[in-house]
Amino acid sequence: MSERIYNFSAGPAVLPVEVLEEARANLLSLGDTGVGIMEHSHRGKAFSAVLAQTEADCRKLASIPDNYQVLFLQGGASSQFFQIPMNFLESGQTADYLVTGSWSKKAVAQAKRFGTPHVAASSDDRNFTYIPRQFDYSNDPRYVHFTSNNTIFGTQWASEPEAPGDAPLVCDASSDIFCRPIDVSKYGIIYAGAQKNLGPAGVTLVIIRDDLVEAGRSDIPEMLQYRIHAENDSCYNTPPTFGIYLMGLVFKWLLKQGGLDEMHRQNRQKAEKLYAAIDDSPLFKATAEQDSRSLMNVTFVTGNPDLDADFISYAKERGLDGLKGHRSVGGMRASIYNAFPPEGVDRLIEVMGEFVRSRG
Ligand code: PMP
Repeated sequence: MSERIYNFSAGPAVLPVEVLEEARANLLSLGDTGVGIMEHSHRGKAFSAVLAQTEADCRKLASIPDNYQVLFLQGGASSQFFQIPMNFLESGQTADYLVTGSWSKKAVAQAKRFGTPHVAASSDDRNFTYIPRQFDYSNDPRYVHFTSNNTIFGTQWASEPEAPGDAPLVCDASSDIFCRPIDVSKYGIIYAGAQKNLGPAGVTLVIIRDDLVEAGRSDIPEMLQYRIHAENDSCYNTPPTFGIYLMGLVFKWLLKQGGLDEMHRQNRQKAEKLYAAIDDSPLFKATAEQDSRSLMNVTFVTGNPDLDADFISYAKERGLDGLKGHRSVGGMRASIYNAFPPEGVDRLIEVMGEFVRSRG
């Protein structure tokens, strides 16, 4: 087997080695069942136990109150962009969107198919390099949608915004879920594609308050009703069984690490070190404004696209992969999710220094 390298990919992203090793052991036979994890019926005893444990560990990890459902859906976070307005927004109704990057913009575009989204704040004026502090909410929005971490631009909300009145807060937490403690009771819906902080691509975690499960439309296809998935414990149809299993292993790993407070401590330590190295460097420059910097996606540039490309190949030759920034912004992006090892950050800082010295 070839050696593992440091993988800074924004997603699908690095997973804990312990988790991968345990999954490997269960590929051919889950425990002593004689049937591999991917081959078990989703209605059988073995997988039902996996599903129940995954949900229980998720609830424990984030102290999810009893009046919230934990659902394991498919279609990626991108399907939530339309499933949410399809359920809660009727023609002529307004939901407020806080636009902090390309993913929020995509969410707005989907909401337009069903109702009248109102952009209550946007950081578009400075190319999404910051998190807005002022909101211009509409009178009575059906919900307020925001993106807690902007994977492409490397910005993150320090804490959740306050929604007006009793409008539920809806959060796309795809790229920072469980990177720190979260007070679920402040939210109506939290959703995240798994492939950054939770597991493999193919499963979407949706945490949704009971009253919203109830309030969703019932005249749309069953697969798009939260109610149907909640009533059937995410087994209305065949759920993404392997993804759920692996997410369960990641939850166990997070609990073993010490839970979300400990993850937050580690994530802060990794990010602060890297930002400090960038700020101290004569060559590299962070692109996000200081008070909006992400703990998960650290974006930086040299100011010269050719030099950026040189650095990316230089780093790759030294076992640091996935540092190329998103194609829409260029530069570099180091994604340092929960499972990214601190030694990888140290190595990146070393290589950045070597690169600077190599150029005299
Ligand atoms: N939201 C955010 C913040 C993302 O980073 C991504 C994927 N990079 C998406 C949504 C889209 O997720 P998916 O590919 O699972 O549809």
